[in-house]
Amino acid sequence: MQFNNKIFLKLKKEKNAIIIAHNYQIPEVQDIADFVGDSLELSKISNESKASTIVFCGVRFMAETAKILSPEKTVLLPVKDAGCPMADQISKEEIIRLRKKYPDAAFVAYVNTNADVKALVDICCTSSNAIKVVNSLKENQIVFIPDRNLAHWVSLHTDKKIVSYSGFCYVHQKFKISEIIKIKREHPDAEILVHPETPPDVLKEADFVLSTSGILKHVKKSNKNKFIIGTESGLIYRLRKENPYKNFYSLGTPKICFNMKKTSINDVYNSLINNKYEIILSPEIIKNAKKPFERMVKI
Ligand code: SF4
Repeated sequence: MQFNNKIFLKLKKEKNAIIIAHNYQIPEVQDIADFVGDSLELSKISNESKASTIVFCGVRFMAETAKILSPEKTVLLPVKDAGCPMADQISKEEIIRLRKKYPDAAFVAYVNTNADVKALVDICCTSSNAIKVVNSLKENQIVFIPDRNLAHWVSLHTDKKIVSYSGFCYVHQKFKISEIIKIKREHPDAEILVHPETPPDVLKEADFVLSTSGILKHVKKSNKNKFIIGTESGLIYRLRKENPYKNFYSLGTPKICFNMKKTSINDVYNSLINNKYEIILSPEIIKNAKKPFERMVKI
């Protein structure tokens, strides 16, 4: 079937739905989405939207977050097994064990965690507000889950004792110091922008460490015209689309999140037609997972 915007417009109207897509989705999906953004931006958009159905093109924890913030809405994840391997690296049982080990610590969960894990922590954070969130807490010891690289980045900007977990994003973990050294030689006039999920030695050599939305904002206001991007390659599509006169290069070989690329246009169409796959969370998980979010939003 040949898809075009008209087909989706008609379907969205019939279903009172919106399509939202993460920055790492394939170009065709980004192009038919009503909004493209990072996980938190998209959850806020779903919450503020008048639509009753949200088709969330991303990975499971993101669609769960949208459901937590808007439990009255139908949230659909077009591909059932589009999960995030990093979010799956920590379970609720691990949190219960760590709570016993660190009874005086505050527990901070990166938004890249599953709903049942979020329901057991004190506060959530994103890659852009993680430092602010940690520094706002009264506790001196912070258990930061699940990403060890983001935890390391935060530890460089706080006096608090950070206990990091062993989780990591398999995509960002692939960036290497040798790639940054090579590209600096090839493009000495470019700015190097990397995501805080990349390993510490790579972060150290970057010009700026920024979230995906931080990279987009930085590029827009910068008077430079050459950028090296150290995050999942899908962001480069959006950067080029929004900044046609600027030049973007991947830091080393393009790094691809296969989980993010599982969603095709066909899946989005099926999702709208057949209401697939609805995110179902228990009222208790929704109630408890909402608290650390609300606490984050307050600061
Ligand atoms: S890029 Fe990394 S953190 Fe994001 S969904 Fe893929 S595996 Fe998870």
